[in-house]
Formats: sequence, C-alpha cells, structure tokens
Amino acid sequence: MSLWELPDFDGHEAVHFVCDRDSGLRAIIGIHSTHRGPAGGGTRFWHYVDPDQAVNDVLRLSRGMSYKNAMAGLAMGGGKAVILADADRTKTPDMLAAFGRAVDRLGGHYVTAEDVGISVADMVAVREQTRHVSGLPVAEGAVGGDPGPHTSLGVYLGVRAAAKRALGKDSLAGLHLAIQGAGSVASGLARLAAKDGARISVADIDAGRVERLANEVGATVVAADDIMTLPADIFSPNALGAVLSEQSIAALQVPVVAGGANNQLARPEDGDRLQARGILYAPDYVINAGGIINVATEYLADGDQAEVRRKIEQIPVRLEEIWAESAASGQNPAAVADLMAQRLIGRA
Ligand code: NAD
Repeated sequence: MSLWELPDFDGHEAVHFVCDRDSGLRAIIGIHSTHRGPAGGGTRFWHYVDPDQAVNDVLRLSRGMSYKNAMAGLAMGGGKAVILADADRTKTPDMLAAFGRAVDRLGGHYVTAEDVGISVADMVAVREQTRHVSGLPVAEGAVGGDPGPHTSLGVYLGVRAAAKRALGKDSLAGLHLAIQGAGSVASGLARLAAKDGARISVADIDAGRVERLANEVGATVVAADDIMTLPADIFSPNALGAVLSEQSIAALQVPVVAGGANNQLARPEDGDRLQARGILYAPDYVINAGGIINVATEYLADGDQAEVRRKIEQIPVRLEEIWAESAASGQNPAAVADLMAQRLIGRA
C-alpha cells in the first residue's frame, strides 16, 4: 500500500524520512499541519518490530498534535517525530546530533520536544544543533520544566467545569471524586480538589505511591480493579489510555468522566456509548492540554507564565463550547471536539 493510501494519512503537509549513515539514525518527521504555526510535537524513541508501524504512529500522532494545539488556542500546528530504535534501544550522542540537524534543516516548520523514550537531557543535546526545540530544563534559560503541574491545573479546572455543567455545582466541595492513578497528573489534581473540600477515592497499581498520596490529601485508597465501578460524582482517569470501552462504560456509576489520561476512548464509538448512558465526557486532548500549553509557550513566548496561566484558564471555556455544541447537535463531545479542531486548522 502506498503512503497516500494508508488509513492514517490525512493530507499531511510533509513526511520526512531521515537516514544518517554515519550515526545509524533512522527517523521519520511528520508535519500534519502548519495552518496555525510551526508544527509542534514531541519525538518518540521506540523499537518497532514492524517499521511500517512507525509511519502509522507518525501520521496518527502528528494529526493528534494538530487537534490538541488548535483546541488549546496555540499558534502552533501539529507534528511528531519518531526515532526508530534497534532492539537494544541504542541511543548515541551522534544519533541525537544527526536528529537535531534534520530538525534544523526544516527551518522551524517542525518544533520538537520530549516524548516516550526521550529525556530532557536528550533534548538538550538536540538543542546543540537547532533552536527549534522546546521542553528544556529551567536551567537552560527557558521556563520549561515538568509539564505535570500545568496538566493537573487544566484537568482540575476542567473537572470543575464538568461538575458545574452536569451537577450544577460551583465548587467541588462535598463531591466524590474517583481518581485512577496517583502519578504526576493525578497528584496535582488530588491536591487542588482536596483544597476545595472534595471527597477523594484514589487507586494505583503502585501501592506505595497511592498510600503516600492518600495520606497527604486525606483520600481513601481503592483497589485498582474497583475504581471504575465505584459510585461517585466524577470518575477521573489519570493513568492509562483506552480505559473507556464497551464493558467499562456499561459498569461506570458516575454522571461525569473528566481526567488527564491520553486516548481514553478505546474506540471512537465509545464517545456515543458514554453519551447514551447520559455521562458527561470531557474530551481528553482538550482537558489535558496544560502541559503542551506550557511547552509551546516556552517556544512561542519565552515561557511567559502569565500567558501559560491565561491559556490554561481557557480549557474550561473550550469544554463549555464543546458541551454546548454537543447538546445542540446531538453529537457526542469527543466527535464535536474533532470537528471543532478540524475547523480551527482550516479543514472542516
Ligand atoms: P505517571 O507515570 O506520573 O503516573 C501514572 C500512574 O498510573 C503511575 O503511578 C502508575 O502506577 C499508574 N497506573 C498504571 N496502570 C494503572 C492501573 N491499571 N490502575 C491504576 N493506576 C495505574 O504519569 P502522568 O504524567 O501522571 O500521566 C498520566 C496520564 O496523563 C498518562 O495517560 C499521560 O499520557 C497523560 N498525560 C500526561 C501529561 C503530563 O503533563 N504529565 C500531559 C498530558 C497527558
């Protein structure tokens, strides 16, 4: 099958195949859209048993970044890179340098950052070759750093907006929040919600981590297998993707699902399933955009923290727009979000 006919090909502006014989680097850089600005999106370092899967990943993930950046109101398009690792996952300074030169040759059409398998230190190495990098450590002179707290803030504001819309509550005080995960995003959310007086149940497969968080915020620990069937006001997935499936949606006992995990819907039709059960859903890539807002603002506006805050505070506004359009059109919120994103990148 040719590249043009792949199911994930979506009128991508460019797909660059990079090969550096000296270092052994093999990479693919996908530019889905530059309609709103330079194509922003991280670099994934991954061993693909089937290299064709790397192409699919670049196509799918770069389109996802176009949607996410557009819905976050950023002057950025969408792109993504993958570096094809060998089975031993050998990563050398020469490979990173060659990758940096490849990004630089694109002249700012693509801006890279960390993703799975790529560390902040790797991006510092890439920065030696190109200035089209974001997500650098604070010590580098940029206000980058950990995206987690920014993501948590956006998720918290989104959860509050959902509580207002579905439950008519202006605050989380007294509401029961069931949080899946006790990692970076979940912890920040739990702290903010606890301050508001929410009742929190939390689950994680890491027993030590969940205990520590529960003690800190006064939450109840729930078994990982039980968190999605717990009767509560809000279920907030902040661990894994694809947790919302035909089976799990049928078993939910909440009127709201709002959390920061990526790719929560196992299949597109799960958006309809949530809607059919009368459960309000906050589309994942809209509610979890706080981290990318911080990373993008580092590149676009020298990390202006007032601008980061202003943009994160727009997340609940965007969710309101989605829910209002969903109520008017009858389409589920996830589908509405995709349509809005397509309009924002000039592809409606
Ligand atoms: P993290 O690694 O800090 O935390 C994830 C936690 O989930 C871990 O404690 C892990 O033990 C737990 N977990 C794994 N499987 C579980 C299960 N079956 N049940 C309960 N807990 C389980 O990761 P994070 O940075 O907090 O990210 C959480 C989610 O949010 C991920 O889906 C990530 O892609 C998404 N996300 C994160 C950011 C960010 O800024 N960190 C931004 C956007 C989206």
